[in-house]
Amino acid sequence: MINVTKTFLPPQEEYQDILKKAWDKAWMTNRGILVKELEDKLMTYLEVPNIIATTNGTLPLQIAIKALQLTGEIITTPFSYVATTSSIVWEGCKPVFVDIHSEYLTIDESKIESAITANTSAILATHVYGNSCHVEAIETIAKRNNLKVIYDAAHCFGVTYKGQSIFNYGDVSTCSFHATKLFHTGEGGALFCKPHLFPSLYSHHNFGHNGPEAFHGLGANAKMSELQAAMGLAVLPYMQSIIKERKAIVEMYNSAFESTSLQLLKLRENTNWNYSYYPVIFETENQMLRVKQILENNAIFPRRYFYPTLNHLPYITNEFSVPISDKIAPCVLCMPLYVGLKKEEVKFIVQIVIDNL
Ligand SMILES: *Cc1c(COP(=O)(O)O)cnc(C)c1O
Repeated sequence: MINVTKTFLPPQEEYQDILKKAWDKAWMTNRGILVKELEDKLMTYLEVPNIIATTNGTLPLQIAIKALQLTGEIITTPFSYVATTSSIVWEGCKPVFVDIHSEYLTIDESKIESAITANTSAILATHVYGNSCHVEAIETIAKRNNLKVIYDAAHCFGVTYKGQSIFNYGDVSTCSFHATKLFHTGEGGALFCKPHLFPSLYSHHNFGHNGPEAFHGLGANAKMSELQAAMGLAVLPYMQSIIKERKAIVEMYNSAFESTSLQLLKLRENTNWNYSYYPVIFETENQMLRVKQILENNAIFPRRYFYPTLNHLPYITNEFSVPISDKIAPCVLCMPLYVGLKKEEVKFIVQIVIDNL
């Protein structure tokens, strides 16, 4: 059976050796030595000035909205994972969907300004599949209209834009270290921010604590545990080889699909991508469903990601016109992409797809 992804696991002894350091101290959470070591190593690896390791990639979005004291409307993309929208609604704000760019698949910056009202407080955009949003245009719009910017960078581990980490853009960026993501800690994630926001985000991720007996204000519990950090520390040394192997698979897919009717992801200029997903867009939903069924008959399970488009969630009013997202989401399929996927398997997948277009 071939799934869309398979979690990379380091040798179990390596995980256990690292975990032993926490075991010896009988210290499993509350920012123990392993979380601190992981944060230090990630700051170096990613070349970012700060990081807060968290227990998943969704709480960082909620905490960012809370810490930036956002209210009213937040402009966002309909083409993302549900957590992007649910976090906005969970924090009592209203998502306002702006359509996506037909090739880059990120929010269409040229359509943002006409969606701004007196109630707009922020833009929450997703670097879809690790592809950068037009961060300069979004920054200009945000400045002109006094809006905050949050990036859901869940897919962006290791991505750089114009030579620096994509996490350095926006007021706050978030990442996910879920087991299905490029770099993982089982469940996990991180916050990255402009330096002046760090104390507030830090406090919000730890109950609002100001020392053991005082509080700055309201907080949640989004701390990463030592068990999660141990996994991250065991996976991190493999990242270069993980990315290299995924790149080789992506290049096989690219050369096979280039001259077909499939639409492939167009990377934004100046983006150094991380090979995190391999989406293909079929001409019609029927064509996609047919190919998907034939792949499944051969024990290959690609995933409809992202589908449905988020303006169709049951808790969203049906008032948004996002024709490009509505057209692309039903036709997109993410192909299997993971360490250990064999060349012959990629060839087999490619052949089935091409034969049935
Ligand atoms: C995975 C993902 C999340 C949520 O991350 P978790 O770690 O699963 O909570 C948020 N946004 C996007 C775009 C994602 O792909």
